[in-house]
Amino acid sequence: MSFDTDVLISGAGAAGLTLAIDLARRGVSFRLIEQNTQPFSGSRGKGVQPRTMEIFEDLGFVDRMAAAGGPYPPLCQYRPDGTHKVSLLTEADVFATSAEPYAAPLLLP
Ligand SMILES: Cc1cc2nc3c(=O)[nH]c(=O)nc-3n(C[C@H](O)[C@H](O)[C@H](O)COP(=O)(O)OP(=O)(O)OC[C@H]3O[C@@H](n4cnc5c(N)ncnc54)[C@H](O)[C@@H]3O)c2cc1C
Repeated sequence: MSFDTDVLISGAGAAGLTLAIDLARRGVSFRLIEQNTQPFSGSRGKGVQPRTMEIFEDLGFVDRMAAAGGPYPPLCQYRPDGTHKVSLLTEADVFATSAEPYAAPLLLP
């Protein structure tokens, strides 16, 4: 077997797909291969981390991601005694800085 491409990407997961997008925008030819015949049926990435948002900004689609998603909802824990406690999964008083422009993760089902 032979093929003519600059880069062979093995695996269409988060890393492989992101690399494919980056190579495509730079005009570098690639072939992306994936051993699975179907997409993963569950969720392995609905929580988009702040650093990932920076990468999505660089790739040019962070605004569409942000528009489609939203902040993490509060977590409500129900206790055996009938009481419950509502808390935030992320700290409430975290603000964007130049070093970390996306302070909180995005939830995008
Ligand atoms: C239940 C769960 C929930 C998660 N939730 C989040 C979340 O909310 N937010 C978040 O940021 N991260 C989350 N993660 C982690 C995130 O999914 C991983 O960090 C991410 O998928 C890793 O990407 P990857 O490309 O390195 O590997 P993978 O996504 O595992 O992709 C690797 C791909 O390579 C393929 N492959 C392997 N070997 C070969 C081969 N020899 N030939 C061809 N193809 C091959 C595999 O089939 C696979 O598709 C979650 C993980 C799990 C398990």
